[in-house]
Amino acid sequence: MDIADNISRIKKELPSGVKLVAVSKFHPVSCIQEAYDSGQKCFGESRVQEFCEKYEILPKDIEWHFIGHLQTNKVKKIIGKTALIESVDSERLLELIDEESAKAGLVTNVLMQVHVAQEETKFGFYPDELIGYFESRGFEKLKATHICGVMGMATNTDDMQRVTEDFKKIEETFRLIRDNESYSLRGFDVLSMGMSGDWRQAVECGSNNVRIGSSIFGLRNYQN
Ligand SMILES: *Cc1c(COP(=O)(O)O)cnc(C)c1O
Repeated sequence: MDIADNISRIKKELPSGVKLVAVSKFHPVSCIQEAYDSGQKCFGESRVQEFCEKYEILPKDIEWHFIGHLQTNKVKKIIGKTALIESVDSERLLELIDEESAKAGLVTNVLMQVHVAQEETKFGFYPDELIGYFESRGFEKLKATHICGVMGMATNTDDMQRVTEDFKKIEETFRLIRDNESYSLRGFDVLSMGMSGDWRQAVECGSNNVRIGSSIFGLRNYQN
């Protein structure tokens, strides 16, 4: 499995304007360095401890996306280290990110996670809930957080019709918020959908940010 080859193969197929996040969770620093040396600068991590360890060691111009469930008591540890937190799944978490960012004197970019998949274990706002959050104008209170768009996952299934339906629901939620002029949102333009098994469908449904792990780095060993 050659990491640089995998990246260049995917990049060739990705339409221009779609960002590739190389999801490096559970993979060692040496693999990330290999991808970095081939020109990949954006990586995704999902666990705070692992991310912070890698952050310390790896080049400082890496653009880190945090993509996992973020516990509120760990927010402080990652503020200032991420280019984008893709997985804001509650108002409480968003408020905390805002508080800690203000304290640190910086602005944190985030995506709101939408939940449409059938699995019980997935986090996020239901589409109606997220639209309700914007209708209630909760975002106007934010001092140090920039909401850049929406992230979502499709149901984990081989039924590609179901996957496409899920992506369409996420895209619709994104569009309803983005196109509501009364919100005056600036730079609400990231639609993050698609992983190794379904990124082609996601891109067809309008994704402009794909998060690909195993097709680049191989299978993850969850034992380590
Ligand atoms: C692990 C993960 C991915 C990457 O999954 P692959 O199937 O390995 O491409 C993408 N998004 C999120 C949120 C993840 O947790």
